[in-house]
Amino acid sequence: MNNLKFSKLPIKPLILENLSSMGYEQMTPIQEASLPIILSNKDLIAHAKTGSGKTAAFAIGLLSKLDITKKDVQALVLCPTRELSEQVCKEIRKLARLIPNIKITTLCGGSPMQVQVTSLANAVHCVVGTPGRVFDHIRKNTLYLGNLETLVFDEADRMLEMGFLDDMTQIVSHTPNNRQTLLFSATYPSNIQNLSKDFQKEAVLIKADTDHSSLAIEHLFFEKNDEYDFAPVLSILNHYAPQSTLIFCNTKQKCQELATYLQNKGYYAQSLHGDLEQKERDEAVVLFSNKSLSILVATDVAARGLDIKDLAAVINFDLAHDPQVHIHRIGRTARAGSKGLAFSLYSHFDKKNLNQKINFESLDSLNSNNKAILVPKMATLRISCGRKNKLRAGDILGALTANKNILGNDVGKIDICDTHSFVAVTKAKVSLALSVLTQEKIKGKILKVIILS
Ligand code: AMP
Repeated sequence: MNNLKFSKLPIKPLILENLSSMGYEQMTPIQEASLPIILSNKDLIAHAKTGSGKTAAFAIGLLSKLDITKKDVQALVLCPTRELSEQVCKEIRKLARLIPNIKITTLCGGSPMQVQVTSLANAVHCVVGTPGRVFDHIRKNTLYLGNLETLVFDEADRMLEMGFLDDMTQIVSHTPNNRQTLLFSATYPSNIQNLSKDFQKEAVLIKADTDHSSLAIEHLFFEKNDEYDFAPVLSILNHYAPQSTLIFCNTKQKCQELATYLQNKGYYAQSLHGDLEQKERDEAVVLFSNKSLSILVATDVAARGLDIKDLAAVINFDLAHDPQVHIHRIGRTARAGSKGLAFSLYSHFDKKNLNQKINFESLDSLNSNNKAILVPKMATLRISCGRKNKLRAGDILGALTANKNILGNDVGKIDICDTHSFVAVTKAKVSLALSVLTQEKIKGKILKVIILS
């Protein structure tokens, strides 16, 4: 049990005040181990997984050093995927919300280059992005890193796996030698050690105990007849009726087929994989995270960086090839002390590779007659107006609740993106919310709004 408070560390009062307003009273083990090193401006290599609180650790560090009066990019966070970049950017913005005039932006592939160029033309203090697109901007002279203070590699192992080493090396060569370099990685293979040798100076290595407690996760194994035998998924869903389920498949095609199969059976499921348009991927993530969708069928790469709270169950439709990936998948349930369910389906061929001590369950033990299609509590409205139009969550909430027919607790998560936004509203109130938002002027404009789900 750690009881170290953030206030014991030399963190700026504005950041401390904000941490306590966010309910971050105590440091997580990774924060406790890494923040003293980060705040003393040393290089760090941290063995930490998603869910450990690593983002806040490096975000507090880089924000503590920013000088808002300077117009330079002073911090750069490189992430393997767009989804993780957006998640990280959101967390940094949250932690920085009391710092006036701070500008943080994302640079990821899949978004128009010109919009990013325009954003970079106004003083930006912190950039979060994927290595390919960040390097594109350096090459085009639209991003200058000559005054960088902090460089963070988040999920460095995954960036190497995805083939970003060349881009990462090029980016580093455009930054000053006296920068601080923080490297976060879920695993610590030899290529990460080499990366640290090349990019860091006397890095302190830390490994906090971030393993997800196996006690809080009930993990059961069921057999499937073949690689496309989707029926066991129905038996599990019907018996356990989890509120929200993330299903992993090892291929994009299987994700798509399983999601379509579930939709045809009436379940509220969508797929998330690299063959979908970026817009479809963003929407699937928003719907799942704001409780408008109960099942997401994803590949590991697409699910990387998803920060979904209260995930009731994880189903491995395919077993992960790598044990670390397996642990990472099932660790997504039972976060923050809640009890989670994990199910793994194995085929006849997998059985010989499985630990014989595992409790193999029979599908016959499940009550699959109990058809439990979980209708999501919420529905989502997509609003064609976003941060660039100066729209804020408070504007949407204010408009929706103004005449008291919609209450504050009918409104769920609000996501403000650059050019559009999403708001989750209870299903019973969604039509009313649509008419309110299309009839009221917000920011002096009548908005274009559609119901997504
Ligand atoms: P991460 O490992 O960075 O993905 O963080 C996992 C989750 O923990 C995020 O939703 C954070 O908002 C939350 N979090 C991070 N640090 C703390 C803290 N000290 N207290 C409570 N929640 C935290």
